[in-house]
Amino acid sequence: MPNEVREASGSPTRTPGSSRSHARLDSLRQLIADGGVEGLVVRVVNRDYEVDGTRVRAGAGLKMMRLARIAADANLRGFEFAIGVPGTVGGAVYQNAGCWGHELREVLVEARGFQPGADRRTWSVEDLQFGYRTSALRDGPLRGSLVIEMTIKLDRGDGEEAKRLMAKLTSERNETQPIKTKNCGSVFMNPPGDSAGRLIQAAGLKGAREGNAVISQLHGNFIVNEGGATAVEVAALIERARATVMHRFGIELEREVELVGKWE
Ligand SMILES: Cc1cc2nc3c(=O)[nH]c(=O)nc-3n(C[C@H](O)[C@H](O)[C@H](O)COP(=O)(O)OP(=O)(O)OC[C@H]3O[C@@H](n4cnc5c(N)ncnc54)[C@H](O)[C@@H]3O)c2cc1C
Repeated sequence: MPNEVREASGSPTRTPGSSRSHARLDSLRQLIADGGVEGLVVRVVNRDYEVDGTRVRAGAGLKMMRLARIAADANLRGFEFAIGVPGTVGGAVYQNAGCWGHELREVLVEARGFQPGADRRTWSVEDLQFGYRTSALRDGPLRGSLVIEMTIKLDRGDGEEAKRLMAKLTSERNETQPIKTKNCGSVFMNPPGDSAGRLIQAAGLKGAREGNAVISQLHGNFIVNEGGATAVEVAALIERARATVMHRFGIELEREVELVGKWE
């Protein structure tokens, strides 16, 4: 991040991707406190892209779904999974986004951005220390850094076939997840060898409610804002699901959604 930005803020910096609201559950992967966020919020709007052979350079503000279509239009294969990631390139690098058994790290060549107190940097896959829904940007030495673009390497293939696969995956997903509702995506990470949604359903929590926040009837790992739900209500439901699954099955669910802002 440029020093002047950090110095101007003098306080913690957040980087929202495509989240539309920072007051309630309309946000994607972050649950923003009802009291808001103290500090500077930076929104990256760089949506440039460039296809060079099998390599694609994409700005951090570009939507992953859009990039999946760009890749197919260029007759490239290997990025179809991104049609299931409703966020930006920056957010996807931050959390090693993935879907249908594939993750960004499989195709990423490098990412570029700003590290607090340093000039522009290029980070290799090793630097980014990817793990399941995490990276060095989220949980490691690059915390607080700002991604401005990434380069991926794909395979040559039939773009029409890629589009057919994406359409099939999208329609399957629409049947199993509440995609068209206001929700914050998967609430918990899947524990090894199991699925958070299955555990929450088995604990009898589908339909559980706190105010206008409800555990989806379609998929137990989603909390839907039926309209006007507060962040406190959503957080209470998350905690209830975590505690109930722990009590019933002895499995500790780890939150995938981040709580951001002033919670006290
Ligand atoms: C219905 C639904 C289904 C979902 N399904 C999946 C799925 O199958 N697989 C999956 O991986 N994810 C899934 N998600 C989560 C989604 O991928 C994330 O919400 C998205 O990748 C986060 O990107 P964003 O651009 O919206 O970032 P935000 O939600 O705004 O931010 C998320 C985090 O990324 C950081 N960040 C964002 N941009 C940058 C940047 N340029 N530089 C540094 N840090 C940045 C933010 O600071 C924040 O900590 C789903 C979400 C929803 C709502």
